[in-house]
Amino acid sequence: MRKLPVPASRMSGMKRIIVVVFALVLLGCGAGAQGPAKAAGKLTLTYVGNEGVLISDGTRSVLIDGLHREYDKDYLFPPPDVLTAMETAKPPFNTVRVVLVSHVHLDHFHPESVGLHLKNNPRATLVATSQQMAEIARNYKDHESIRNQTREITPEINERVVYEKDGIKVTLLGMRHGSERFWWVKNLGHIIEIGGKKLFHFGDADVATDNFSTFNLPAEKIDIAFVPYWFFLGENGRKIVRDQIGARTNIAVHISPETADKDAENVKRLVPGTDAFTKMLETREF
Ligand SMILES: [Zn+2]
Repeated sequence: MRKLPVPASRMSGMKRIIVVVFALVLLGCGAGAQGPAKAAGKLTLTYVGNEGVLISDGTRSVLIDGLHREYDKDYLFPPPDVLTAMETAKPPFNTVRVVLVSHVHLDHFHPESVGLHLKNNPRATLVATSQQMAEIARNYKDHESIRNQTREITPEINERVVYEKDGIKVTLLGMRHGSERFWWVKNLGHIIEIGGKKLFHFGDADVATDNFSTFNLPAEKIDIAFVPYWFFLGENGRKIVRDQIGARTNIAVHISPETADKDAENVKRLVPGTDAFTKMLETREF
């Protein structure tokens, strides 16, 4: 118990009230600094394979590229228990308010899994391109029942569009997908603002300076960027990460489970300070 500076019995009534109030304020601040206030400002990232991440501020969360299934041994995918938890919106996926998808490739997105999550989580909204909506309409039989939980936004290449919901702000960026044979794939970058932090996820965007420079990303002062690990392997990719994104923290993603340890080590050696996601459900706190 905190000792009051003057014996309480020798003070006037008003003084006593002031001292008691002051002591309560001090106690309150102390509790806030170690307890609830800090917890409220904490952001938790939970990795769900390949480029999938659950971004949570403790009460609300964004799930990006998380609803995917087994596709190829090169891509880490959620095992049955994790997939079921996502599709049925069980903790920690029950707080999802916004579902985002970078592009329609199956290592990032399964239309039926997205449909099931929306059906089981009425508070969630899918913000996605017309290409992603079409896949859901084709492959999820109950798509009519989740129609009101979708918001179609299809930015042109180099265009940005803002979406806001429940204190979460998402800026969708039209970015080219890597490789000529995928010219037709709508690939999105997402700047996600939640819990006082700014995160950047850009799917499989082409490793080309102009694909990033058009958005003047360093001015955004990004806290955390999720970067496909191949960006770190070449000089051009490393320059883009450093000069065109300029995030405070970089986390390498899209690492194959077959070569995870070697690739993560390599990335950390090439760019010291880089983090890497390689294990299902591993977390980071910011
Ligand atoms: Zn991919």
